Amino acid sequence: MIFQKCAVIGLGLIGGSFAAGIKAKALVGQVNAYTPREDHLRIAEHLEYIDQGYSDIQSCVKDADLVVIAVPVAAFESVFQALSELPENWLAPNVVVTDVGSVKGSVIALANQYIPDLQFVPGHPIAGSEKSGILAVNPSLYEKHMVVITESSSGKQSASSRDKVKQLWEGVGALVKTMPVEEHDRIFAVTSHLPHLLAFSLVDTLAGDPAQQAIFQFAAGGFRDFTRIAASDPVMWHDIFFANKENMLSAIDEFSEGLNALRGALETDNHEGIMGILTRSQAARQHFQVILEQRAFSSLEKQSKESSKDMSETHVQHFLLQPGGQCSGEITIPGDKSMSHRSIMFGALSEGTTNVKGFLEGEDALATLQAFRDMGVVIEGPKDGEVVIHGVGLHGLKQPKGEIYVGNSGTTIRLMTGLLGAQQFASRMVGDPTIMKRPMGRVANPVNSMGANITISDAGTPPVVIEPAQGPLKAIHYDMPVVSAQVKSAVLLAALYAEGTTTIKEIGPARDHTERMLKAFGVEVEVDGYNISLKGGQKLVATDFTVPADISSSAFFLVGASIAPNSNLLMKQVGMNPTRTGVIDILKLMGADITLENEQFVGGEPVADIRVKSAQLKGIQIPEELVPLAIDEFPAIFVAASCAEGETKLTGAEELRVKESDRIASMAAGLKTLGIDAEAQPDGIIIQGKGNGDLAAPIFGTGEIETFGDHRIAMSFSMAALRASGTILVKDTGHVATSFPGFKDLAQMTGLNVEITT
Ligand code: NAP
Repeated sequence: MIFQKCAVIGLGLIGGSFAAGIKAKALVGQVNAYTPREDHLRIAEHLEYIDQGYSDIQSCVKDADLVVIAVPVAAFESVFQALSELPENWLAPNVVVTDVGSVKGSVIALANQYIPDLQFVPGHPIAGSEKSGILAVNPSLYEKHMVVITESSSGKQSASSRDKVKQLWEGVGALVKTMPVEEHDRIFAVTSHLPHLLAFSLVDTLAGDPAQQAIFQFAAGGFRDFTRIAASDPVMWHDIFFANKENMLSAIDEFSEGLNALRGALETDNHEGIMGILTRSQAARQHFQVILEQRAFSSLEKQSKESSKDMSETHVQHFLLQPGGQCSGEITIPGDKSMSHRSIMFGALSEGTTNVKGFLEGEDALATLQAFRDMGVVIEGPKDGEVVIHGVGLHGLKQPKGEIYVGNSGTTIRLMTGLLGAQQFASRMVGDPTIMKRPMGRVANPVNSMGANITISDAGTPPVVIEPAQGPLKAIHYDMPVVSAQVKSAVLLAALYAEGTTTIKEIGPARDHTERMLKAFGVEVEVDGYNISLKGGQKLVATDFTVPADISSSAFFLVGASIAPNSNLLMKQVGMNPTRTGVIDILKLMGADITLENEQFVGGEPVADIRVKSAQLKGIQIPEELVPLAIDEFPAIFVAASCAEGETKLTGAEELRVKESDRIASMAAGLKTLGIDAEAQPDGIIIQGKGNGDLAAPIFGTGEIETFGDHRIAMSFSMAALRASGTILVKDTGHVATSFPGFKDLAQMTGLNVEITT
């Protein structure tokens, strides 16, 4: 029992559902309730929502150790006053008072005024409907809904009373989040209270129109959707608007400004302005969807195992793979991720309009696209891989209104650290739980040494907080301590803004898309072996650009077609940048049957069709000089190594430990699950291949694979099914869409037996 006796004040939708929920789950000893209407009390007793109903507050709360206030916000004062006037020792000595009000600042002020000596835990369930009253009660209303508990400024909120209230909400299936009071009231003013006010206002305006009959008669779905919430209880919303008045006024002002901008653009026939607002808004809505799902997902981590299991069943998808199958046919792999990111960045910084074809519509590249929209760049699309970017020039970016959310994209956050470090406005970047653990010092440090003002967490991870630089950045000479295209690119982006010529000395061959693409956008970049130099202040000139297919995504199919018997697969127009083709070199060293056809140059980058046929691979010591050229492809290569004859050894690849997951540990664990002898090393792995010349013989066993939220782990193990003896369940594969939307369909097309399951 979390509490012995609970008194719920107010038996409408919210209070009644709470009472009924805790009673059904037997979380408290006794559930009392008060509401002014006798008939409602009797209904609640009859339906067993409560144990005992009272028509006066005093009798209801006698000896209660929990009081829940669930009345309209304007009625809070009278309830607090009634509590303050109770006879001495009327309540249980350790009583906790909590509430469900939609506004918190004004409620806390009243609690401070009337019950300063009682424990008060302000709460706000994010659940409800347009219905109200006892007849709308639903005992499972709070299941899988969020409840915000705000820190009370009264100082009368002990951790233990907060924990007990939290446990109660969790007991009825809710996800509890804590938040400062001011933040709560500001956020709900814009996300809930303003939309209600607008819906009421629109319906009111139209209802006053002389043609209102016709308007409502012909009202289409959009009108119904938009105005559904105007059917909510007017008294409740009246109370909420006034109780959150200051935040509401700011929200209305901000909204009016946006509305006026639209009006102005329309009046002056500013088509680009209107398109900018509409495309930004459409993309933001889609992007919010990703954030919303991500939030629901990340909040799971904080939940008890039990409730997280429930939630994961509704949100997380898996790949279920049947053993065997083929990997044949002719396919086009989606566009290169690295180049898709850079096409948006450089297009945005250019003068003029850039048309991009073959853009990868994966979540990572879309996160970059959204970041630039957040900074005021008008970007049309993507539609069927086509994007039109209206460049704003090197100095045309605007300060984003909120923080930039990069999702799961390491490229976005690392490259943008260089770019934002050079801007004359403040900004802040965050991402999903995986990105929030990735090292950022490697990019922040060199850019800071150019004069930027970038702060990261003590652990060296995001959030990345950028204050405007004091004056223009200064060029540096940078000796790269690691082989990393992201670090090099961040410094080059900052160098575009720096006074003087920045020089970079690499210690190995990292991807050179930034250098190649900057040249395509008219920037002079000198590359002399491992020495790169770039003079600051150069203009970027818009250019049209076709993104070739991504060789990293092709890698899964290179491996699939190599290990599956009787395979013959052609992949069209894949990017063959020499800093990326390590996977082909390594697989060829292992004996893979790979040939290149139709080789040509597109937009400064070499491309070719790749044909792959089944072959018995053999184990090798992977040459260390190829490691940086195949760094993203090792999860797939490890699957190939498992099918090879003999041992494969990888060294010098410690970088794999700081990718989307620790790829050495993730892959070793998964391979072991499937019966492969895989020994993780600090900087690599040793895999004993089980190939024996019989290409049809199963190599992998059956089992469930953890992907640790890493898309490449998921896709690599999907290929293992081609040579498995039984079913493989690859868990949590939603992340695959970050780099390879449509992977499952393409895999099916080539002959894999893969289904999505939840
Ligand atoms: P509701 O269905 O109208 O219920 C309100 C309850 O309070 C009813 O039992 C009502 O009694 C009683 N009440 C009304 N005035 C009172 C007064 N002066 N003194 C004592 N009791 C009074 O409202 P609700 O939707 O449950 O909302 C209750 C609270 O939850 C509000 O503070 C609201 O901000 C918050 N909230 C609502 C939602 C939502 O979507 N509805 C979501 C989150 C939070 P009668 O039936 O006799 O009027």
